[in-house]
Amino acid sequence: MAQSVLDAMPAASTGTLVFTGPLNFWGGRREAAREGAPSEAVYEPATGRVLCHMTPCGEEDVDAAIRSARAAYLQWSQLAGMERARVMLEAARIIRERREKIAKVEVVNNGKSITEALVDVDVAWQCLEYYAGLAGTLSGQHIQLPGGAFAYTRREPLGVCAGIGAWNYPFQIAAWKSAPALACGNAMVFKPSPMTPVTAVILAEIYKEAGVPDGLFCVVQGGAETGTLLCRHPAIAKVSFTGSVPTGKKVMEMSAKTVKQVTLELGGKSPLIIFKDCELENAVKGALMANFLTQGQVCCNGTRVFVQRDVMPQFLEQVVKRTKAIAIGDPLLDGTRMGALISKPQLEKVLGFVSQAKKEGAKVLCGGDMFVPSDPKLKAGYFMSPCILDDCRDDMTCVKEEIFGPVMSVLPFDTEEEVLQRANNTTFGLASGVFTRDISRAHRVASKLEAGTCFINNYNISPVEVPFGGYKMSGFGRENGQVTIEYYSQLKTVVVEMGDVESLF
Ligand code: NAD
Repeated sequence: MAQSVLDAMPAASTGTLVFTGPLNFWGGRREAAREGAPSEAVYEPATGRVLCHMTPCGEEDVDAAIRSARAAYLQWSQLAGMERARVMLEAARIIRERREKIAKVEVVNNGKSITEALVDVDVAWQCLEYYAGLAGTLSGQHIQLPGGAFAYTRREPLGVCAGIGAWNYPFQIAAWKSAPALACGNAMVFKPSPMTPVTAVILAEIYKEAGVPDGLFCVVQGGAETGTLLCRHPAIAKVSFTGSVPTGKKVMEMSAKTVKQVTLELGGKSPLIIFKDCELENAVKGALMANFLTQGQVCCNGTRVFVQRDVMPQFLEQVVKRTKAIAIGDPLLDGTRMGALISKPQLEKVLGFVSQAKKEGAKVLCGGDMFVPSDPKLKAGYFMSPCILDDCRDDMTCVKEEIFGPVMSVLPFDTEEEVLQRANNTTFGLASGVFTRDISRAHRVASKLEAGTCFINNYNISPVEVPFGGYKMSGFGRENGQVTIEYYSQLKTVVVEMGDVESLF
């Protein structure tokens, strides 16, 4: 067999090898995309080096992938849930066994720190274990009807689902989408972001090794064009999309043409509210977790930090001190806490938000600049120092728009009523957070925040048992938790007559 992507990629970080094989996967093996399509360079964010090339899939490729997925679906959907669970548990075991290697590849392709990438990989195998556990529990209802008649419901898979992912959690997103899909008996054709094409292929190779039928989890590479082909394809039953609001709207529109089910996991501009009665050190730590994981490129980040005026000076002093101490640099080193942003354009976009904030009157308390690590091999990497913005107002661009970089906007407030109104004054609704010691206030505020998640006295905790998803323009549908079974299955009602037919005709 050809060298696996997992074996080939890590060497790239040493600067000695660039992976050259095809990065699509269907019919149980890696496949090259159609001839003639121009390939695109994929970069290593920490060094700016070309890591590999990705050729976007065209119509024939997407058709081939979907055909192989359909064939696999016909076999897989006939298995009992417990049989599917066994295969998924084996895949989880393999991921766990290779967690360090997979995390290293994720770092090389994404730029996040190895410490975070290891957590992402762990979350991925936990997700497979969780949905393997649920696969055997899928069941319907029995409903007694008059005259001995009865009905029952069957929970059935949807068919071939498409997964379209963002670049910030490449391996984890592929697992979050495929695990519930496969547990319910579906097949999945997954399209990663063109900037992070690699680790989804590793997942495909692992699923195959674990024993899924060839074609059950396919990977097609490409950008908008390939994504469009998936959303328009009549043989796709559902699209689960993670990405920005503008793309999400297009996905929904295209899916409507053939009435596909859609899950949209979109962007956010989440509020984090810090009341004066909180445990301040925890609130400061929470604010950092809410803003700086994965270089601030996290959809549910609490980037509007509302601080009650009385504790503002202490909060700012502590948060700035801790932010300045964040170790930025080689993401493959254990001690690094912040790696590189995904791309040069993304870095420039985020720095542009900081300049705009300054023009609009915000004060930079720290960071907000390009960062050049001392290690010569990282000189061309896309690093930036994490930024705290003070003197922010609700009407500023940095407070209204999703920045998707390490920029925290701090806003003072006086009363609970006022802060709730301001926190909810956004078209987004992905997440929210509150720090307070007053339990009544904590639950009251949680109930009033218009967001799919509210964290009380912590932030950015997303275990697989807990549903995750948005309100308002941050999307709909959920990932993780038991409820996601409903987004990857459909109910069939079977009505059984036990007597004679009473006909009106
Ligand atoms: P994006 O919308 O640019 O791209 C997302 C995916 O959609 C990519 O795979 C891309 O190739 C594909 N795509 C682009 N145009 C398409 C089209 N016309 N049809 C079909 N597919 C198309 O987003 P991004 O820049 O990759 O990711 C950042 C965004 O994702 C942020 O807004 C972030 O908040 C959001 N995000 C949300 C979640 C969540 O769970 N809610 C998680 C991670 C990221």
